[in-house]
Amino acid sequence: MLGGYSLLVGRSKSRSLASLVMTALLSHAERGLYCEAGDFYIDPWQPVDRAVITHAHGDHARWGSNSYLCSREGEGVLRTRLGPAATIRAVAWGESVDVNGVRVSLHPAGHILGSAQIRVEHGGEVWVASGDYKTDPDPTCTPFELVRCHTFITESTFGLPIYRWPHEWQVFDEIRAWWRANRDAGRASMLFGYALGKAQRLLAGLADADIGPVYTHGAVERLNRDYRAAGIRLAETRYASDLPKGTDFAGSMIVAPPSAAGSLWLRRFGNVSTGFASGWMRIRGARRRRSLDRGFVLSDHVDWPSLLATVEATGAERVLVTHGFREPLVHWLTDRGIEAKAVASEWKGEEDTDPVEVAGEEIPA
Ligand SMILES: [Zn+2]
Repeated sequence: MLGGYSLLVGRSKSRSLASLVMTALLSHAERGLYCEAGDFYIDPWQPVDRAVITHAHGDHARWGSNSYLCSREGEGVLRTRLGPAATIRAVAWGESVDVNGVRVSLHPAGHILGSAQIRVEHGGEVWVASGDYKTDPDPTCTPFELVRCHTFITESTFGLPIYRWPHEWQVFDEIRAWWRANRDAGRASMLFGYALGKAQRLLAGLADADIGPVYTHGAVERLNRDYRAAGIRLAETRYASDLPKGTDFAGSMIVAPPSAAGSLWLRRFGNVSTGFASGWMRIRGARRRRSLDRGFVLSDHVDWPSLLATVEATGAERVLVTHGFREPLVHWLTDRGIEAKAVASEWKGEEDTDPVEVAGEEIPA
């Protein structure tokens, strides 16, 4: 069943009559974003025959499909997510794959290791599905590549003018100062960040920070392996649960997923100061609501100015907005004469809670 935004196609004045009758290259269907011409889905939320995957976060890479196409850079983390039985084909950046006559290629999205935008070309039409993306520098993944297209399908996780990110170096300065103050006070620093992506970005930023020792939650440590195997340099870490009872954690840095906050696991660390690295920390109330001592504004998504700049730079004449604060972006684009529409998806962007799962199993703390 195809619904959603097929009606949008063909309104562009620059298009030939032939394009007026064609259906949308990508449509919102029951199981996800569907390409009828190539008979495949992008990040389907239900099992399908052919899935093209933007990245390994749980809301984009789900179990049960017969085959998966992903970037070579992202193969390790996707394998960890999906388990050994999944059929995964990995391709190089920009490599063209013919799927039933549709040209498909993957281009860096700069979100987490291996994250890709999916470029789909058929009958002279180019569509790009962004998945999640950011344009800020990040040592743990290939930088975002701008891909020109007719239709851009974008996220809008932080699509409100209040969301503007500070420089990454500024955030790491704050994290180091926080750790020093905690060490001097005889406390451990408990830093929460999503187990896949954010935790490794934190550990990469702390690689030369002269802090430590650095301990990790099991979910973070498991994914660290994939990042190191991909050649990403992270701070030296130890799996916290390997340490004997009664270990003194004062002066250490512990990196854990936000789901560990308030858990029994936390108790062993004694006197801790808690911090959370997330785009949501831009809003003071978001930190207070979670009873955190500190919030660090570090996101793996574009902020509002970068979102607008990127969408414009794609040259797209039609923009579909799939998740996050969709309406402000739709209004902004419409005001500028760009055809824009919010469409439904089951993608979530940067979530408050991050299920700590790998290949369908709960990971021990
Ligand atoms: Zn994501």
